[in-house]
Amino acid sequence: MTDDASVVCHFSLRVSGELIQLNTAVPARPASVGELLPAIREISGELQRVAVNRVEREGKHVSCRAGCGACCRQIVPVSEPEARVLAQLVESLPPERRDRVKRRFRDALAALDAAGLLDHVRDFKGSVPPADRRTFALKYFAAGVPCPFLEDESCGIHPDRPISCREYLVTSPAAQCSDPAPGLVEMLPLTAKLSEVLYRFGDGEGRDPHRFLPLVIALEWAATDPGNPPTPFPGPQLLENFVRQMAA
Ligand code: SF4
Repeated sequence: MTDDASVVCHFSLRVSGELIQLNTAVPARPASVGELLPAIREISGELQRVAVNRVEREGKHVSCRAGCGACCRQIVPVSEPEARVLAQLVESLPPERRDRVKRRFRDALAALDAAGLLDHVRDFKGSVPPADRRTFALKYFAAGVPCPFLEDESCGIHPDRPISCREYLVTSPAAQCSDPAPGLVEMLPLTAKLSEVLYRFGDGEGRDPHRFLPLVIALEWAATDPGNPPTPFPGPQLLENFVRQMAA
């Protein structure tokens, strides 16, 4: 077996009464949480599909469309494994595009600095208590700083976007997303928030404290991070651990 060998895991989940079946490839060897992200994205897609079917039966529709980047000016939490993968993705882009994306990261940090928010963004967990995060998120949105991956009001990394972005789907009119104040935006209700499972899943078991950071600091954070360590768990076991955490 080579280091690149993968195995296909077949598993079923019951979500809101619907049985979903997934076949997803994971590394056969001990894997990092970052390497599990393709499988987690597949699960996330299925949870959303079930949720969309449910609201459509109630006569509602998801109003999110390509070209509407209103929510992409919010503070976007990403897990540490996702931040590492995003930084690797940026480094792998063709030079011209890579430089453009990196410039947008720098511009976003400069705009947040000018708005007096950057210190809190850099130390989000330390300096913004959980009870104040909603208020801070509204201030962040008011600063109007686009996500560095936003291109022509669409996500420039759509297949690789973070789980929290995948989970942000709304059934209220798109125009209301220009004001994310409580009560105006109706979110698609999901059975499980995989983003929150991921925040605690850096150890591969779900015993970590919440470890996440704002996407906008992902590149500078990853530059000082020791890397993407494998967990002790082979891919299939790691996936099983994740699904158990999700079910819990
Ligand atoms: S990663 Fe993509 S979907 Fe998420 S906030 Fe940025 S542009 Fe929007």
